[in-house]
Amino acid sequence: MKKALVCGAGGFIGGHMVKRLKSEGYWVRGVDIKEHEFCDLPADDFVVGDLRDPRVVESVVDEGMDEIYQFAADMGGAGYIFTGEHDAGVMHNSALCNLNVVEEAVRKKVGKIFYSSSACIYPERIQMDPDNPGLKEEFAYPAGPDSEYGWEKLFSERLYLAYQRNYGLEVHIARFHNIFGPEGTWTGGKEKAPAAMCRKVAEIEDGGTIEMWGDGEQTRSFLFIDECIEGVRRLMESNFSGPVNIGSDEMISINSLALMAADIAGKKIHINHIQGPIGVRGRNSENSMIEKELGWRPQQPLRVGMEKTYAWIDDQVKERQ
Ligand code: NAD
Repeated sequence: MKKALVCGAGGFIGGHMVKRLKSEGYWVRGVDIKEHEFCDLPADDFVVGDLRDPRVVESVVDEGMDEIYQFAADMGGAGYIFTGEHDAGVMHNSALCNLNVVEEAVRKKVGKIFYSSSACIYPERIQMDPDNPGLKEEFAYPAGPDSEYGWEKLFSERLYLAYQRNYGLEVHIARFHNIFGPEGTWTGGKEKAPAAMCRKVAEIEDGGTIEMWGDGEQTRSFLFIDECIEGVRRLMESNFSGPVNIGSDEMISINSLALMAADIAGKKIHINHIQGPIGVRGRNSENSMIEKELGWRPQQPLRVGMEKTYAWIDDQVKERQ
């Protein structure tokens, strides 16, 4: 039986990965600084521990473990990443997790490791156009991310690749583009745009008004969680290291995203545009590399994932009321 460690298993993507690996017959240990908020994880072992502490990392990585999935990071949506207030913590906390995990993976001769990077590593200067044709992997350099979160991700990509070069660790890296779906953060300031739009629409009556940061013409693409997990598993089974984009290339403005949530809910809404952190103007995934290397690319329409996500968030809102 294959043995895997999922770091950040108490979070959104890590929690879904635990379920996927269990369904494939793995023995799975999860580790996170907190329990999962939204579900009972089927992990064989779950450790509440801080990966910034090398002693914790030493205790959760077993000798010769087959796979590690490293999702732990200090992160959140635009309200967390772009205000500047959390910059030092974001860099310090995430870098420490990565430094500790990669070192221990080599020491314990782990079979292979997955690292979750982000579209936030791409230079700000090539994302000023809302009609962005897509971010190819090679556009990462010369570097110029728009947030310290992005700089830490770029540093850690290089860290894992250096360990692969110098110590022979098998490394696989994906740059996620806005992953969304049920059992993710949907309120409290760390939620991302799809969850925020679903919550805002779920909270109002038909004909009500939602607030939105900026003019809403900024564009993004959003990938449903199931396709993200599928992409990661395929990447781990391949002999390709990456970094490779795992994202949708169906780009949409935030205004249209809100209207899609409203349409799913069967509500008419008004949008009140207010000042707030918005990040780059246009961002889209470019998927020719994943197609070439893995013979696979995400294809599910955004609407399908938004319907599932809206239903889940609507339930959360009702439960809280
Ligand atoms: P998440 O916040 O739900 O999960 C991250 C988990 O890491 C959290 O449960 C958190 O408690 C845990 N963590 C943070 N610091 C820790 C520490 N010191 N020790 C132990 N655990 C710690 O986020 P997510 O959306 O599941 O993202 C997973 C990974 O994917 C992150 O590395 C993130 O940067 C990356 N990513 C996500 C997206 C996205 O759209 N969700 C996009 C790009 C990249």
